[in-house]
Amino acid sequence: MSELNEVFAKKRKSQGSKNQGNQQIQVPSKAIPFKTKARKPKDQARLVKFINTIAESSPFGKSVLEEAASAGYTLCFEQQKDSCGFCDPDSRMIVLNPTLPDNLLIATLAHEARHAQQFCRGASAEFGQYNVKSEIMYTRAEEADAETAAAATCHEIRINSGNDGPWKSFSSDSVEIATEFMNAASSKDAPVSDKMLQAAFNGWYKATDMVEAYEEGYIQDVMNEAVQYKDEQSYPYDKKISSADIVTMFCQNAEGKCYWNNNKDVLNEKEKLSVCAETITACDKFFVTRNKRYGSEMDNSYLDMPVRDVYNLPAKTRHHKNDGKEIANSNKDMKTALIAKIKATKIR
Ligand SMILES: [Zn+2]
Repeated sequence: MSELNEVFAKKRKSQGSKNQGNQQIQVPSKAIPFKTKARKPKDQARLVKFINTIAESSPFGKSVLEEAASAGYTLCFEQQKDSCGFCDPDSRMIVLNPTLPDNLLIATLAHEARHAQQFCRGASAEFGQYNVKSEIMYTRAEEADAETAAAATCHEIRINSGNDGPWKSFSSDSVEIATEFMNAASSKDAPVSDKMLQAAFNGWYKATDMVEAYEEGYIQDVMNEAVQYKDEQSYPYDKKISSADIVTMFCQNAEGKCYWNNNKDVLNEKEKLSVCAETITACDKFFVTRNKRYGSEMDNSYLDMPVRDVYNLPAKTRHHKNDGKEIANSNKDMKTALIAKIKATKIR
């Protein structure tokens, strides 16, 4: 038996002995009819507890869960490597990582159920449909809004039930979002307002590690892999969508009103559109290769977007002159440290 097999055998054994205790576990009844799937009563009880914690104390979170439930979503556990959980619109599953603490998973459920609600309202889970500028506005708003929903939910659980566990977990993971959300509150136990939701949403863009981790995962990796596997034609990058259309679709408060009603152009703000040099390099490479291979049109939408990093130049000053690469290299030390940090950031 290899060392690894021994570890698994031990694990199975310890799980086996715990299973006997599971027979005694009473699964609580659900506060709302949200489907759950688990083999062991212990896991079933845990999933129901997450749903009830949100539904019983957070009107915001409850409205999100109810919409996901009526669209047929099921909550379950599955071991995951670098993730707290995910939402799959095809199978209609919200999947949580069982190895993580309950309070973190309650915040994760609030976040993932919000993605389910976004899908119900017409969001697409496919990458590479919109031009780069629209794609960046879209995917960032999707994540910023999911974190905003998690902030509102964890805050309401704290003020309505006194259970501050989920909020503590959320605010230690998402410092900028939690800080901005509370800075916009008139008091520690203020009810959720559009002003607080807007502040949390804006806070997401200040969490540079998070922004860049998603930029790497949702833009650079998609493009680099497409070029590597000659699959560029699967990614048209040609649809367009406005800031107003995006925030109207995603950014809704518990009453179903857009919390950006007074500023629907918010996604056009400069700091919300900045990208790092690697992204420009990946875009240039993708569109040039796709054009050479298939004659497809180039995408000019990202040429005016400001580049983060030390040079802070608009992308167009370097576009197609092949010096995007040089800039990336000259920042190498800084970038290496940053990428290491991003890799350590959990995507959820
Ligand atoms: Zn997310």
